[in-house]
Amino acid sequence: MSLDSHIEKVIWSQDQILRRVAELASQITDDFKDYSQPPVVVGVATGAFLFLADLVRGIQLPVSVDLVRAESYGSGTLSSGSPTISLDLKLDVRGKHIILVEDIVDTGNTLSCLISHLESKGASSISVCTFLDKPSRRKVHFQLVGEGKFYRGFECPDYFVVGYGMDFAELYRNLPYVGVLKPEHYS
Ligand code: 5GP
Ligand code: MG
Ligand code: MG
Repeated sequence: MSLDSHIEKVIWSQDQILRRVAELASQITDDFKDYSQPPVVVGVATGAFLFLADLVRGIQLPVSVDLVRAESYGSGTLSSGSPTISLDLKLDVRGKHIILVEDIVDTGNTLSCLISHLESKGASSISVCTFLDKPSRRKVHFQLVGEGKFYRGFECPDYFVVGYGMDFAELYRNLPYVGVLKPEHYS
């Protein structure tokens, strides 16, 4: 029962992912190089942990790193629609430029909740860098703060994907690529 045998199809290979993440990191390096203050890169646990790790290692600037946790999904594939913040920042972000790092933006509920939360802490700008984006499923429009920019790795078709940090029922986060599970494993 190997891990790979649970996957029906690979959507993005490890090579494709690492190449795209390197491009995002150099874009961010370029966009933030003239700012007088180091940005605070905030990863959304748990799903963004691998993307966060690869992204920050590619950014050629001093940055601080922190985590928040927001939960809108149970163990299944359907959103509860009302995310709660269950782990808050350690750092003080008043007056700072935040780059919020997400695994995937689906309905937009989680992201808009996190943006309002971080904005209320006095961040001077909030950018978003999401590994995947499913614009076809958007229900909530989110707004960046200040001069915040939007970065995304790939536009994702309307599948429930796993791997590269993303889970189904807390499994498959450790896959180094992104794929779709065989139907018998979505249960
Ligand atoms: P939203 O609040 O935008 O509907 O959902 C955001 C969160 O739902 C993501 O951060 C992620 O944790 C989860 N999610 C949305 N789509 C997928 C998917 O295709 N696969 C996995 N594993 N998680 C997803
Ligand atoms: Mg997430
Ligand atoms: Mg999940």
